Amino acid sequence: AQCGADGVGLYRTEFAYFTDRLPSEEDLLAEYAAVAQRAAPDRVVFRTLDVGADKMLHAQAVLKEPNPALGLRGIRMAQVRPDVLDQQLRALLQVSPLARCRILLPMVTSVSEVEEVLYLLERDWIAVQEEEQVKITKPKIGIMVEVPSVLFQIDEFAELVDFFSVGSNDLTQYLLAVDRNNPHVANVYSHFHPSVLRALQNLVQACHQQQKPISVCGEMAGDPLTAILLMAMGFNTLSMSSSNILRVRKAICHVPMADAKQLLDNVLQMNNPLVIKSWLEHYFKTHGLADMVKSNRLVSA
Ligand code: PEP
Ligand code: MG
Repeated sequence: AQCGADGVGLYRTEFAYFTDRLPSEEDLLAEYAAVAQRAAPDRVVFRTLDVGADKMLHAQAVLKEPNPALGLRGIRMAQVRPDVLDQQLRALLQVSPLARCRILLPMVTSVSEVEEVLYLLERDWIAVQEEEQVKITKPKIGIMVEVPSVLFQIDEFAELVDFFSVGSNDLTQYLLAVDRNNPHVANVYSHFHPSVLRALQNLVQACHQQQKPISVCGEMAGDPLTAILLMAMGFNTLSMSSSNILRVRKAICHVPMADAKQLLDNVLQMNNPLVIKSWLEHYFKTHGLADMVKSNRLVSA
């Protein structure tokens, strides 16, 4: 709240696992309770463990997967180590009476993955209430939209979850089949790509149709140029690092909705990411927002 945000839109729970030993349920409970209480009365969205690929644990590196970005990462880990997810869910359930928290599942590909987590959550919910002798309201649960398959099954996922959140870094990576951290193909990776923009436009419409809230995380939400497009598309919430909040807030306050919608209309007709970016930059430069353009890198992150 101190930096002008409404709660924590994405709390990455990976950090506790980058040590020599796995954390205990008590460790997790202490960490999550501290985070939730600091953010109170605002909510915190806790993303369950998303290790693998660019966030590789030592134990995973031993697996020597030939293609880790397409391998055992995010929710897929729950197939191999359900106990790890179970422990996180139990800790989060115990935190939920203390402060507002939500659960977000990363790297979801198929409906069955969510069904399995819901089953675990239900079982833990009953068990924790019995053990602690408290009544717990089940936290809202959502999935990240970062694997393109999800884009085509929003209605089916909407029957299972309360909200959606776009992981724009990974969605860009998987839509464009380009490693988000590989400098050799950095010119291919762009969140100004027409397919990324059109996918998001369709996605937000599908979520609204299902009456489910949808937010955007990742670089795209923290880039003023794309933030105003997301606003025009109708995204309810943008989640970004605190260092970007002021810039994005300034852009959103300065660009009238009618202009943002016009810009969106314009760029959705274009087929080249660089032209789209230049078009947006031109608007910013000619509307007193030139400082935001200069601080951007030439190739989007
Ligand atoms: C994303 O993919 O955009 C995201 C927010 O998650 P991460 O960067 O942690 O993969
Ligand atoms: Mg991601």
